[in-house]
Amino acid sequence: MNEDKPIYILPENTQRTLGKDAQRNNIMAAKIVADVVKSTLGPKGMDKMLVDSTGETIVTNDGVTILEEMEIEHPAAKMMVDIAKTQEQEVGDGTTTAALLAGKLLEEAEELLEKKIHATVITKGYRLAAEEALKVLEEVASPVEDQETLRQLAMTAMTGKGAEGQKEHLAGLLVQAVHQVAEGKKVEIGDVKIEKVKGERVEESSLVQGMVLDKERAHGDMPEKIEGAKILLTDVALELKQPEQEAKLSITSPDELQRFIEHEEKSLKDLTDRIIGSGANVVLCQKGIDDVAQYYLAKAGLFACRRVPKSDLEKVARATGGKIVSHLQDVREENFGAAEMVEEVKQGEEGMTFIRGCQNPRAVTLLLRGGTGHVVDEIERAMQDALGDVVAAVRSGRVVAGGGAVEMSVSRRLRAFAKTLGGREQLAVEGFALALESIPEALAENAGMDPIDVLAELRQRQEMGEARAGVNLFTEKVEDTLAAGIVEPLKVKTQAVSSAAEVAQMILRIDDVLISRGGGGGVGSSGAIGGGMPPGMMGMD
Ligand code: ADP
Ligand code: MG
Repeated sequence: MNEDKPIYILPENTQRTLGKDAQRNNIMAAKIVADVVKSTLGPKGMDKMLVDSTGETIVTNDGVTILEEMEIEHPAAKMMVDIAKTQEQEVGDGTTTAALLAGKLLEEAEELLEKKIHATVITKGYRLAAEEALKVLEEVASPVEDQETLRQLAMTAMTGKGAEGQKEHLAGLLVQAVHQVAEGKKVEIGDVKIEKVKGERVEESSLVQGMVLDKERAHGDMPEKIEGAKILLTDVALELKQPEQEAKLSITSPDELQRFIEHEEKSLKDLTDRIIGSGANVVLCQKGIDDVAQYYLAKAGLFACRRVPKSDLEKVARATGGKIVSHLQDVREENFGAAEMVEEVKQGEEGMTFIRGCQNPRAVTLLLRGGTGHVVDEIERAMQDALGDVVAAVRSGRVVAGGGAVEMSVSRRLRAFAKTLGGREQLAVEGFALALESIPEALAENAGMDPIDVLAELRQRQEMGEARAGVNLFTEKVEDTLAAGIVEPLKVKTQAVSSAAEVAQMILRIDDVLISRGGGGGVGSSGAIGGGMPPGMMGMD
C-alpha cells in the first residue's frame, strides 16, 4: 500500500471548514444578520429598502420581512432567518428582537471562546440562562387589566411603523375585531381577516361585519348582489382539464382527442347543471372557472368568484357555516354556507366581494386602506404584528413592560443567578445577561440617545427596585414604561428568548461545515453575507 496517497472520503468538490474556523465563520454570519436588523428596532428604528432581482421594491421596518427578502445563503445566517420566521409564526411580532438577541448571544459566546471556554460549557450556560430567564419573565409579567391594555399593546406594536399616524384609530379597530372573534381566551390570528385596498386614506380603514374577499365576480353578466345567499364553497376546478398539462393522457389520434374534449365539455356542463340545480346562488371556487361555465352560471343568475385562496375559503366556511366541497356528489344544500347578502362593491378600480350577515356573528374583516401599494403593505405588516400581540395577550392574559424594561430586569436577575453557579457556566450566564441589555441599548441608540448613559441609568434604577424602568422614547426618559402605556405581550419575550437561545446553542455546537458545491449557495460564495470561508480542505492525508 502506498502510504502517501491521500484518501478521499468526500466528493472532490466538497468545501469543508473545521473547528474554530467553522465556529468563527458561523458566528460572524449570525452577527452580520443581527446587525442588519438592529437599526430597525423600536419606534425610532429606520426602514430598509429592499429591491429584488425583478426590480420589485419593498420599504419596511419589519424584521422578518427584511430577512426573508434578503435571500440569505450562508447556512448559519439562514438559521437566524428561521428564528425570525418561527417568531412570526408563533406570535407575529418581535422578529427583530429575536434576531438581535441571537446575534448578541453569539457575540458574547465569541468572547468566551477567545478566553478558551469550551463551546459545550457555553451552550450549557445558555441553556440554564434561558430556563431561568423564562421563569423570571413569567414572574414579572402583569395581567391584562382591560381593553385599554390591549389598545396600548396594539399601539406599541405600531409606533414607528407605517401605521403610526393613525395608530389610535387602527388600534381601536383591531381590539374591537379581536374582541368580537374571541370566545373568552380562545382566539387565533387567522380569525381576523385583513384585506387591503389602495387608493384611499388610511383613516378610512374600517371594520366590516362579515367577510371581504379581494375578488370580483367572474362574469359581468352575473348579478352584483344576491340576497339570502346560499354559498357553495368548492376546491373543484370548473374548467376543462388542459390536455397538454395532464401528463397521464395518452392520445394516439385526433379523433381520440376530439372525443376527449367532448367528454370533458359534457362533464363540465353536467357539473354546472348540477350546481345550478342544487339551489346554490353563490359559488366560491378555489380553482378556475371556465368561460363556458361562467356563462352558464351567469345565465342562471348565480354569483361566482374564481381562484379564491384556500385560506379565504376556509374563513368563509367558518363564517357562514358551510363546508368546502371536493366532490360533485357533495354539492348539496346542507353543505352550503349562509349569509344575508353577497355583493360586489367597487373599491377604487377593483371590485371586492362582501359577504354580510354571516351565520356566525364572529366573522369580521379589517379593511385597511392607504394611498399607495407601498403604504398599505407596510400598514398591513404593522397591523399583523399588532394583531399577533393582541391575540397573544388575550390568550395568555399576561403582558410585560416594553422599552427594554423587561429585558433589563431579566438581565439583572440572571446576573444574580450566575453567582449561584459554581462552574464556568457562570460566565456564559453573565454573557446571556449582557446580550439582553442589547435591546434597550439598540432602542436608545436608534433614537439618537446615548446608549451608555441610558444603560447606566437603567441598571441603577432597576437596582433600586424599579423593575419596570425602561427607556420611554416618547419622553426620551428612563421611567416605568408599563405605566406609560408601552406594553408588550409576555409571549413575544418568552418566544424571543427561547428561540434565540436555541439557535445560538445550535450554531455553537457546530464545529464542522461541509458544503457540496452545486447544492445551494456556498459559504464562501458572494452572497449577501460577507466574511467568506477559507478554501475548503478536500480529502485527508
Ligand atoms: P420587533 O420586530 O422586535 O417587534 P420593533 O421594531 O417592533 O421590533 O420594536 C419593538 C421594540 O420597541 C420593543 O422592545 C418595544 O418595547 C419597543 N418600543 C415600542 N414603543 C416604544 C416606545 N414608545 N418607547 C420605547 N420603546 C418602545
Ligand atoms: Mg414589533
